[in-house]
Amino acid sequence: NISTPQPVIRQLDETAINRIAAGEVVERPASAVKELVENAIDAGAQRITVEYADGGKTLIRVTDDGCGIAGDDLPLALSRHATSKIDGSDLLNIHSFGFRGEALPSLGAVGRLTITSRAQGHDGAEISVIGGKHAAVKPAGLSAGTVVTLRDLFYATPARLKFLRTDRAEAQAIGDVIKRLAMAEPFVRFVLRDVSGDGAGREVFRAEAEQGDLFDALHGRLRQVLGREFAENALAIDAEREGFHLTGFAALPTYSRGSAVAQYLFVNGRPVKDKMLMGALRGAYFDFLSRDRHPAAALFVDCDPNLVDVNVHPAKSEVRFRDPGVVRGLIVSGLRHALANAGHRASTTVAD
Ligand code: ADP
Ligand code: MG
Repeated sequence: NISTPQPVIRQLDETAINRIAAGEVVERPASAVKELVENAIDAGAQRITVEYADGGKTLIRVTDDGCGIAGDDLPLALSRHATSKIDGSDLLNIHSFGFRGEALPSLGAVGRLTITSRAQGHDGAEISVIGGKHAAVKPAGLSAGTVVTLRDLFYATPARLKFLRTDRAEAQAIGDVIKRLAMAEPFVRFVLRDVSGDGAGREVFRAEAEQGDLFDALHGRLRQVLGREFAENALAIDAEREGFHLTGFAALPTYSRGSAVAQYLFVNGRPVKDKMLMGALRGAYFDFLSRDRHPAAALFVDCDPNLVDVNVHPAKSEVRFRDPGVVRGLIVSGLRHALANAGHRASTTVAD
């Protein structure tokens, strides 16, 4: 077609690139909370406080007592693909939550972001992103750690804003993210506060740091997060197969739920929502539960990072195992064994 002008190919500018990437990393307030809390955990924080207002739409603030960021590094923390967490290209050996160096630049592209931080041996410093560009680093008074404040999420992308659900639903999703991360990190103290309205603040959730060995700590944390009834009806799970280790707690069939709400799965310490793992959990209880009941469990699969790819999706909630059949078998047999030992076969059992 002669009348069509030759299109011009242009490189997108940094602000546009960040905004596009943000679409994948930051879907809703809860995804921003997840990224910020994971950063706090990666920074070695012992205490993490999350505050939000209006379901996180107007304010999200995450305060930690982790290693902090030196003032000189603040601009770098906000630039794309800049991370302190992997060295070179070793994507097969990831031990931190983060590694893409995408969260902070993405959040800066879709909200009003301010980072105040103090690293050991440095003065406190602050940087803000306004309209996709970061301002100069300023000195700031802070004793240690990091405070990240994200205001007016999606103010620059009204289409995205329109798709958010009610404040209540968004707040619920934030609570869910915090609970999952709290289960993954029993030795860290978590506090979640709703500071909507007059700012007085209402505590939504708190989990004090657990003590003791990992198993005890996890059991204590599950009691705090999922409740006493779950903790008292939970069987300890500990099984191994071909380099995969399954641990955690799974509730007796008598403590089943009417929906799949109480199913928490973790791979190498990372909360995941994975169809194969959920299917394996359901399969394990097949003989023990009637069709309309759902098991409750918090299960941790650990393996050499070489055996699993966590790099499938920017939000990293999906994983791909090199050998999914082995993992499925491990979950089904590990749980069945524990359930059979507990001798709590439900009367609705389907004979096989
Ligand atoms: P990633 O977590 O993938 O490295 P981010 O964009 O989330 O990428 O963070 C960029 C960098 O900023 C991190 O690698 C880390 O060095 C630093 N950083 C972010 N949040 C914190 C925090 N709460 N405490 C200390 N350092 C942080
Ligand atoms: Mg990160």
